[in-house]
Amino acid sequence: MPAPDDTPSLPRALSPATLAVVTGRPPREPDAPLNTPVTLASTYVAGGDVGYGRYGNPSWASFEDALAALEGGDQALAFASGMAAISAVLALVPDGGVVVAPEHAYSGSLALLAELEAAGRLQVRRVPVAATDAVLAALDGAAMLWLESPTNPALEVADVPACLAGARRAGALSVVDNTFATPLVQQPLVAGADVVVHSATKYLSGHSDLLLGAVVTGAGGEGLAARLLSHRSLHGATPSAFDTFLALRGLRTLDVRLTRAQTSARVLAERLDGHPAVTRVRYPGLPGDPGHQRARETMRGFGAIVSVELGGDAEATELFVSSTRLWVAATSLGGVESTLERRRRWPAESPDIPESLVRLSVGIEDVEDLWWDLEDALRVLL
Ligand SMILES: *Cc1c(COP(=O)(O)O)cnc(C)c1O
Repeated sequence: MPAPDDTPSLPRALSPATLAVVTGRPPREPDAPLNTPVTLASTYVAGGDVGYGRYGNPSWASFEDALAALEGGDQALAFASGMAAISAVLALVPDGGVVVAPEHAYSGSLALLAELEAAGRLQVRRVPVAATDAVLAALDGAAMLWLESPTNPALEVADVPACLAGARRAGALSVVDNTFATPLVQQPLVAGADVVVHSATKYLSGHSDLLLGAVVTGAGGEGLAARLLSHRSLHGATPSAFDTFLALRGLRTLDVRLTRAQTSARVLAERLDGHPAVTRVRYPGLPGDPGHQRARETMRGFGAIVSVELGGDAEATELFVSSTRLWVAATSLGGVESTLERRRRWPAESPDIPESLVRLSVGIEDVEDLWWDLEDALRVLL
């Protein structure tokens, strides 16, 4: 569908911070609003491009244009949630096809893969994504490489460009869940991926007030984009116009939010690293982290998620989580509010993840306030 956006073509490659602000706007005409209005419509006058509310919406299109530009992609499609987007992408796997997937990743993606495998729809080869040789070896005969990096919640870092090149050689479709990194930190399509998926529920929208997913395809990906669009239309996994409006509003400040959160995440990771109640800090920004060197080489930042393992059992860890006053005990991540969670409270989380692992999603509050709160709550473990 044609986008309402008419960002002037400029003789200059704009930085992501600028793209997040200038893309997905209505044409610049006298009295035009700066923002694409929320179009609340199921029904459109016949003869145009939208046709019907399940096929398209101008509010979706503005968000999609902005995200496609940020990812260095060609076309983005918004979905009702991250899982709806992931489900649409997995539908691209032919019956019985092999999907190479991380052994640790977002638990919903892994649960959906396991469900499809149990139903005989596809086969899954689980690999440790940080071990590039293992990923490459598993690609033989695969239909799809599913990557998530850094992984949720173990924060392992894959060599994304090398894995994508391997998928291309093997003839496998490559997909990267870029929710954790965001396009400001890595652009998988530019590195050779066929498809990027997002839970826009997280950083892209950034305010913990909506559920939204997206897929983005790159140059030459028109066929894939058409199949994904058809899936969205026929399965009805469509977002609300208001949610895409809010998500685009959130996207405008992605750069300032993420820059602030990443700076604070690094400070907090360093302080937690020396704390007597903490046995291990997982954060690619720490020089001692196994993923540090690779993140420096393949990413433009380290993200704002920090996972810590504490010197206590599940119960003591829950006590810590419920003792903070600013940090909110909650699942989900990527909002302006700092949240934390003991991931193993979910039965679906991998048993490889330690019982005492707490995932911290660093928000944009003052870092000294955040540290004060964490340090105080950690006393329950000493
Ligand atoms: C949250 C999340 C999802 C799922 O997205 P929803 O919007 O909750 O459906 C997928 N991948 C990652 C990495 C996530 O963090």
